[in-house]
Amino acid sequence: MIAAVTTDRASASEPTPAQTERAVELREQIARHNEAYYEQDAPEVPDVTYDKLARELRDLEEQFPELATADSPIATVGGAPNQQFAPVEHRQRMMSLDNSFDADELVEWASKLQRALDGQAVPHYVCELKFDGLAVSIRYENGKLVQAATRGNGRVGEDVTHNVLTIADVPHKLKGKVPEVVEVRGEVYMSLADFAALNKAQVEAGEKTYVNPRNTAAGSLRQKDATVTASRKLSFWSYQLGEVVGGPELASHSDTFDYLRSLGFPVNDHSRVVETVDEVLSYIAEYEGKRHDLPYDVDGVVVKVDSLALQNTLGFTARAPRWATAYKLPPEEQTTTLLDIEVSIGAGGQATPFARLEPVFVGGSTVATATLHNQDQVKEKDVRPGDTVVVRKAGDVIPEVVGPVLSERPKGLPEWVFPTECPVCATPLIRPEGEARNRCPNYTCPQQIRGRIQHFVSRGAMDIEGFGESTVDLFVTEGLLEDVGDIYSLDFERIGEMEGFGKTSVTNLQAAIEESKSMPLGNMLFGLRIQHVGATVGELLAAGFGNLDALLGADTEQIAAIEGLGPIIAESVHAWFAEPDHLAVVDKLRAAGLKLEGPEIIDVEQTLEGLTVVVSGGLTGFSRDEVQTAIKSRGGKSPGSVSKKTTALVLGENPGASKVTKAEEHGIPVLNEAQFVELLETGIVPES
Ligand code: NAD
Repeated sequence: MIAAVTTDRASASEPTPAQTERAVELREQIARHNEAYYEQDAPEVPDVTYDKLARELRDLEEQFPELATADSPIATVGGAPNQQFAPVEHRQRMMSLDNSFDADELVEWASKLQRALDGQAVPHYVCELKFDGLAVSIRYENGKLVQAATRGNGRVGEDVTHNVLTIADVPHKLKGKVPEVVEVRGEVYMSLADFAALNKAQVEAGEKTYVNPRNTAAGSLRQKDATVTASRKLSFWSYQLGEVVGGPELASHSDTFDYLRSLGFPVNDHSRVVETVDEVLSYIAEYEGKRHDLPYDVDGVVVKVDSLALQNTLGFTARAPRWATAYKLPPEEQTTTLLDIEVSIGAGGQATPFARLEPVFVGGSTVATATLHNQDQVKEKDVRPGDTVVVRKAGDVIPEVVGPVLSERPKGLPEWVFPTECPVCATPLIRPEGEARNRCPNYTCPQQIRGRIQHFVSRGAMDIEGFGESTVDLFVTEGLLEDVGDIYSLDFERIGEMEGFGKTSVTNLQAAIEESKSMPLGNMLFGLRIQHVGATVGELLAAGFGNLDALLGADTEQIAAIEGLGPIIAESVHAWFAEPDHLAVVDKLRAAGLKLEGPEIIDVEQTLEGLTVVVSGGLTGFSRDEVQTAIKSRGGKSPGSVSKKTTALVLGENPGASKVTKAEEHGIPVLNEAQFVELLETGIVPES
């Protein structure tokens, strides 16, 4: 662990030996992190940890200027340019930004500006998002892209021209009245959607997944082979000019944005010119809230003085402009101690390892557990109980352990070994071939029983109110429930005597269970937790067979013949109903009087033969089931999405916006409910 800076000063102006030593140590640590971050695009610690070290060093150097060195990371920008790229000397330096970590520091920055301007001018500010990517400078001569370079150490960057040429957002030729020379600066980044798609492809190819969009964008751009960059889908936001020869006179930073747009560059629309520091703080608060609605990562807000004349007056320090500050948003990565790795058992027996963590505040909440996905992931990440680990939580995304901080690993820390037995019922775990997950094969493992019952009573399935997780837990532990069939023969007298169950709660639970008996067959089939049978497949099976007995008597081909189903689902359904344990559950449900009939299929005229009708939103005269039946029983198809083949889109209450847009795109008629009824009767699409 890093020792805190000692305050045992010998005198106010002289550092103690401990402080001198600490400055050296910090400089070494920061240099190591800089190399990993800027040169290898693979940081070992989260930004928040790095920022803490940098700040500690800055405070020490400010307090004792004799501790400062010319090559201190406090006075320099970025990292060394990598030798595998040709060096590019920046005609105008590419700077870093000084940081503000809270409102006080931002107010202090603004007051400093005012003091430097000596009260002669009151600046307006431009607030911008701080995109989490890497900076590049792109040079155009007579409107043509001639060179692109990374920031490097601010003076010399790396030539990444071929790589930047593959980024769709970056124009190869400029629009409008082009200047002789213009250098456009901005951020290369990867959108969250492109990052997710890349990781999905990695998983499918059995390859290692990437940790976050920032490092992936940086690593993708700094490739020797530009075809690799091209395959990675990078994006670009422009936000600054470097050298300009023969361009227009610009008065403000916001004019720069307009100019960049006119040349054909993407400029982010979220920036805003404001007049006071209070407004800056409101902008920050606003984007702290909106941060996760954006389709790309931002790690802060950059505040710049709008007037270019005032920017000129204020100038630069050794590494950053005085006229700008980067306000850091709360970190989404933190370090903490991995206390233990445990394995949870899911309703289908899946054994999922998860991390028990020393609670840590990250991404807006306190995180004490985080998923580790499966055995291979633990091995690949090589996290061990006792490690300091990086934990990531962005928005509503499930917290994740990114990896260990190897430099902090205690000596001799043993590797974690995946258990061979189910932690709940001690049955040996198995790992079916080709699967990533280990599983407990014991169908009567209490944890699996709990999971199956929780699913059966849940909202999308039988929707039994008052049957929460703790109730399920208790009833299983007390031996009242072994499978979902037992729900309908619960011993309520005994339950009434149990702690926490008053008369009213027992009566309510009893009534909710009784009511669930009339739930549609589709919900029951979904509730049985048959692999691949979600709510929609449940409905399709119920509608397709009309009753449970017909489904029980069907072979795989007959099941696969149902519109919307295929051989994999059919195989899974057929296999499920072939198990004696499962049939015993079905018998209990039958004996309890559950609804085993699907929606009625009436012999009607086939008016919709060959037509495809998509319905979006709720109709007043039809339930969801009834809509499907009305279309299908008339020979029509009713898929969940609009395509070129759709005959008509019917809109009810709260329809899906994307379906409407798609219908407009393909010129598909849009009908209301009355017109839908007419279509059902006549088979002719009414004029809309
Ligand atoms: P910075 O990231 O704090 O600020 C400067 C950079 O911000 C610019 O170069 C540009 O790339 C970017 N930027 C994004 N949006 C911008 C906008 N609208 N206007 C202007 N610039 C914008 O400074 P830095 O010197 O690039 O990096 C320092 C930071 O990098 C540290 O604070 C830390 O967060 C991170 N870092 C982390 C590690 C690590 O090991 N985790 C190591 C080194 C650096």
